[in-house]
Amino acid sequence: TLVEAHLLTDNRVHPIVSPTRWPAEPAKSYDVMVVGAGFAGAVMAERLATQSGLKVLVVDKRPHIAGNAYDRLDDAGILMHQYGPHIFHTNSADIVDYLSNFTDWHPYEHRVLAQVDDRLVPIPINRTTLNALYDAGLSTDEEADAFLATRAEPVPIVRTSEDVVVSAVGRELYEKFFRGYTRKQWGVDPSDLDKSVTARVPTRTNTDDRYFGDKFQIMPAQGYTAMFENMLDHPNIDLLLGVDYKDVRDAYPHDHLVFTGPIDEYYGYRFGKLPYRSLRFEHETLDQEWLQEVAVVNYPHESVPYTRITEYKHLTGQASPRTSITREYPSAVGDPYYPIPRDENQELYKRYEALARAETDTTFVGRLATYRYYNMDQIVGQALAAYRRFAGSNSERRAV
Ligand code: FAD
Ligand code: UDP
Repeated sequence: TLVEAHLLTDNRVHPIVSPTRWPAEPAKSYDVMVVGAGFAGAVMAERLATQSGLKVLVVDKRPHIAGNAYDRLDDAGILMHQYGPHIFHTNSADIVDYLSNFTDWHPYEHRVLAQVDDRLVPIPINRTTLNALYDAGLSTDEEADAFLATRAEPVPIVRTSEDVVVSAVGRELYEKFFRGYTRKQWGVDPSDLDKSVTARVPTRTNTDDRYFGDKFQIMPAQGYTAMFENMLDHPNIDLLLGVDYKDVRDAYPHDHLVFTGPIDEYYGYRFGKLPYRSLRFEHETLDQEWLQEVAVVNYPHESVPYTRITEYKHLTGQASPRTSITREYPSAVGDPYYPIPRDENQELYKRYEALARAETDTTFVGRLATYRYYNMDQIVGQALAAYRRFAGSNSERRAV
């Protein structure tokens, strides 16, 4: 059993994963060793165990499952996200259907305010934002479009994260909302970052102030960790937590390895280190019921050292007389959280990818192993596809 059930005051059950749990029989062999118990590793393990009937050992160096999506109760009994706010959104009904095998859902539409010119205004920039900042009196999409068109600076070829924003809303709004935030978050100027980074945040001429436009905007009703418990709680799956796979890869023989950690680390950094951006999280519980109006407030200005503050009860719907928050301080050192989308990094990744492609007994899946700035749903999709390829080639091998 993996789970010690812990009853919350509102009767929702939240699991606490036991610390390092070595398999009962040492030197047991497995069909597959899965490195990493995040979305990539957990989806692979679940599919391999339930669909292919394989014996799987999941190893994670952290003392818990769920990877960066890990949530837990803090000392105040408030469900918080250890590695920053994780909001689930997707356009894929298939991915929702798959995850619904392991969780119920709580509807949640994410809204974010940004502190700009000493006031809080909605981001993504939309008509309400423009009216609030400029007292522009824009009442239709067309008026907002025309207002932005007078400010936008056409860029012949949109390549960088600066180009994306300046060509849509002009330099002034770019500087207010994007330049400082991006410099803090990534440690480089937006003009040195691939366009895909700031293109994650749309510009709208209507008054839709939701952060995401996706069809499905839902949170696992009892949290991510509870969902991962259900994915991994299977007789074919053993879990080894708090252990680096390098220390156990020989002790537990396996036919196949699924690797979801950093690909450059796997290959001993032989072509050099792939750059990742990290964060330091400052968690705090306040003796007041609420701090802010919405779950996340962004602080784009460079004079503030953090990028955003998250208040968890907005995300989870939990009730408490106290409130827990997290400030995110970007950092060059620490756990690798974000691959940095730049051409030269992609070139370096391609060299590692070529090695990975030549492997027959190792599969690379996940944000760190494929060096892609992917959201949770994209990682689930990537892992389901990787499993299908694995199952397909395995049945071919058996047929030969
Ligand atoms: P991870 O969750 O990083 O899992 C990899 C695991 O491998 C880790 O647990 C690690 O400990 C383990 N590992 C690595 N090396 C070793 C080793 N040598 N031995 C053993 N174990 C090892 N996505 C969204 O959809 N919505 C959001 O709101 C959102 N917010 C985010 C906020 C932040 C601050 C961050 C950093 C990411 C956010 N994401 C969000 C992205 C989301 O976290 C990822 O898409 C997803 O968690 C990736 O899953 P993964 O399994 O690839 O990687
Ligand atoms: N961004 C910004 N200002 C904001 C919000 C986002 O400059 O108020 C930029 C920044 O570069 C950030 C990127 O857009 O890294 C993507 O934002 P998102 O909220 O998707 O980041 P994540 O949640 O993945 O950290």
